[in-house]
Amino acid sequence: MSSPPLPILARDPAHQVARRQPVESVALEHRELRLGPWWQKIPAYKAVDEATFLDHAWQARSSITKVSRLVETIQELVPPGFIADLEGGMKRAPMSVRVSPYLVALIDWEHPYEDPERIQFFPLASRLLADHPKLGLDSLHEQVDAPVPGLTHRYPDKALFLPLDTCPVYCRFCTRSYAIGLDTDEVEKVHLRPNDDRWRRAYQYIASRPELEDIVISGGDAYQLRAQHIEEIGEALLAIPSVRRMRFATKGPAVMPMKILTDDPWLDALTRVVEKGRKLRKDVVLHTHFNNAAEITGITEDAMGRLFERGIVVRNQSVLIRGVNDSVASMGLLVKRLGHVNVHPYYVYVHDMVRGVEDLRTSVDTAVFIEKSVRGITAGYNTPTFVVDAPGGGGKRDAHSFEYYDRDTGVSVYSAPSVKPGQLFPYFDPLHQLSTHQQRRWADPGEQRVMVEDALSKARGRAR
Ligand SMILES: *Cc1c(COP(=O)(O)O)cnc(C)c1O
Ligand code: SF4
Repeated sequence: MSSPPLPILARDPAHQVARRQPVESVALEHRELRLGPWWQKIPAYKAVDEATFLDHAWQARSSITKVSRLVETIQELVPPGFIADLEGGMKRAPMSVRVSPYLVALIDWEHPYEDPERIQFFPLASRLLADHPKLGLDSLHEQVDAPVPGLTHRYPDKALFLPLDTCPVYCRFCTRSYAIGLDTDEVEKVHLRPNDDRWRRAYQYIASRPELEDIVISGGDAYQLRAQHIEEIGEALLAIPSVRRMRFATKGPAVMPMKILTDDPWLDALTRVVEKGRKLRKDVVLHTHFNNAAEITGITEDAMGRLFERGIVVRNQSVLIRGVNDSVASMGLLVKRLGHVNVHPYYVYVHDMVRGVEDLRTSVDTAVFIEKSVRGITAGYNTPTFVVDAPGGGGKRDAHSFEYYDRDTGVSVYSAPSVKPGQLFPYFDPLHQLSTHQQRRWADPGEQRVMVEDALSKARGRAR
């Protein structure tokens, strides 16, 4: 008779610890950043050396602001038919064009239909979809909640200050397409020019509201502020005793990271404001806006490293965009790569209801699913919160926290007890995510009313 088998753990000490398989290389992909003169594959930038490409003034000067110029730059590279598609798309766009050479070179022009940067910056006629029937410009009511032009005071203790209305690039999906950029064929903008008097009125308002502790300086974009303006705004806000925190918001690092490396006066001005804040025990940080891992290159790593060495905290806010970061793999890679370059993923916004970009939106269901899959892949403090900025001025709401969500009609309903108590805020998934039956219902105004009322009454029953 053989003796009974020994317990497996005692017999094999190696089994006393959980054994992990070696990682596959895809798990480390976030560390593989583009290096070398990768921009030279674009014929127009073939002769551009590293020093020139890293020069922020060259990037700004060489940014493309005309469709014809873009066409010249890329026509040798793209598949047939693409140029006509692009020109058709640009004609119908609510945003004007501005793209840096850095961005142009990031795009894989041989496969422009799927490229995440192309999707974000260049509309194609063949991909445009009709707007959702419930959509309006300034869907966030930023203008309604503005006590002074360019200052939105919606939340109890924080306000959004828009010192100007230009950006280093113009993004198709911009929530502020009501103000940002030049007027286009489609939209005439509300203009927010740098203006001492308007800025002074904003500071006066902030100083008059002792509850305001936290100021977001957005825009427009802090990259467009001259070094002297960064310091002026920083000093003016630091001088207000009740202001404890401020954030300079800029898309810049995602679209022109070299400015951090070569615009010393700008970086030094920001650093001085951060250091002055630190002495006053006030928190001054940078908020930025990467949407896809491809935007983070070796240049970005150097730039973010320089901010990190100077003790400048950087947080990231992304927009969830179809074809850009709406898969578990692409969002996971973005989150890991942000962590790798010392940027904290802070928010992922479910796409706001903005005109002319219905093809870019995804559903609340997608956001909830991706959040669930991304949570756990890295440190909790490097895991973004997925939010819906409730149309109608409800503010940011955790995407999971709807009072009611009908995945068939795509209507979700949020409440915002701390911001607008007692009100309900519906958000609408894009119609292209719904069944053809539901899409047909949305074509009928009577049915629209039924769907919205039904969701609101169910939410009313649940909201506390
Ligand atoms: C997003 C936003 C803020 C800042 O909100 P946080 O959740 O603290 O990042 C402040 N004011 C307005 C109007 C905003 O849209
Ligand atoms: S950088 Fe920001 S504010 Fe400017 S166009 Fe893009 S999304 Fe809008």
